[in-house]
Amino acid sequence: VIESPLQAAILRLLLASAEPVTRTELGLRLGVGRNAVGHEVRRLLDAGVLEAAGFTESRGGRRSLLVRVSAAAGYVGAIDLGATSIDVAITTLASEVVAQAAEEIDVAVGPGPILDKAAAMLRDLLAGQGADLSDLRAVGLGVPGPVAQADGHVVAPPLMPGWNDFPVRDAFAELVACPVFVDNDVNLMAIGEHARGVARDVGDFVFVKVGTGIGTGLFVNFALVRGADGCAGDLGHVCVEPAGPTCTCGNVGCLEAVAAGPAIARAGEEAARTGRAPLLAATLERKGVLDARDVGDAAGHGDLGALAVVRAAAGRIGAALATMVSLLNPSAIVIGGGVSGIGHVFLAEIRTAVYARSLPLATRNLPIVPSALGANAGVIGASVVATELLVAVADVREARWVPIDH
Ligand SMILES: [Zn+2]
Repeated sequence: VIESPLQAAILRLLLASAEPVTRTELGLRLGVGRNAVGHEVRRLLDAGVLEAAGFTESRGGRRSLLVRVSAAAGYVGAIDLGATSIDVAITTLASEVVAQAAEEIDVAVGPGPILDKAAAMLRDLLAGQGADLSDLRAVGLGVPGPVAQADGHVVAPPLMPGWNDFPVRDAFAELVACPVFVDNDVNLMAIGEHARGVARDVGDFVFVKVGTGIGTGLFVNFALVRGADGCAGDLGHVCVEPAGPTCTCGNVGCLEAVAAGPAIARAGEEAARTGRAPLLAATLERKGVLDARDVGDAAGHGDLGALAVVRAAAGRIGAALATMVSLLNPSAIVIGGGVSGIGHVFLAEIRTAVYARSLPLATRNLPIVPSALGANAGVIGASVVATELLVAVADVREARWVPIDH
């Protein structure tokens, strides 16, 4: 679709802009002459990538044409794969969700059936719009494990047995016949919050997902930090209890093993069985099994045993985050993932632990807030990285590099 670096730059700017923009403004913001911009905008309009969006108000002079990314320029596929669920959306190139669907799955059945299912869900959503795979421009795919960015393989993912070293990116690109970008699910959630959510225009922040596992996505100076191999921010597997329980990763005492959803459910069951949590015991009696939400609900209804379980887990997470605050000095912490919604005590206790354990200078202006996009953070982030893939085809490495002054 994209034929020149200037077209890519125009498209990137329009994708990042919530409002339609004039050619004059595009030229000013890109530092390019009006004629050159006008020429490329015309070609993008002819190709159906951009569309006209009316004119600016007349201010004595002649009115200027406003342009934006066309709603008819094709769809982007956005997939958020979790350990027990799959969320699939199709969006516009501007990352607005057009249609979406979710299903419960077990990721451990392996890459073949799961990727087939994801592709089938995409085809169904497209069919609902009278479209098919040929209308798909790119796909972003988040997985609950470490992704080697060099080749798009998942590497030794604790929550995805049977997926080790599987070439997710290339296998899925073959199924959907368009470019695919694969990343860790939490990185994509952080990208979603940065592009469209509560961390919009925030340069330095930590996004924390608490669900079946615990992970973080780090933004430093407006860029996601993936690290040398793609696994930066793996807070869930930092050891917080040397004599603690064995983790899914094989190590002992990881944060995830003592504070993620399954650990909260286990501690809740223990409290229920030993008579410390009467409300929770009643729920266990009724359901036969507990999850983290049950524990949060009981805590919210005043069950002191359940409350202690929620506080202990949130306190552990807050203490680990305080270490991150000391290392990175972020200007915000955003908490997301299914477990983050189990009750206000959870978030309050994380805040208390972070503020108690960090330097005053680092927490003087440190909001700790819930995700604005909630369950959609992953698919929005997946859509955003997929559109970045489109403009990267003709990437421009313009004037951002400043030599170090010795
Ligand atoms: Zn671990």
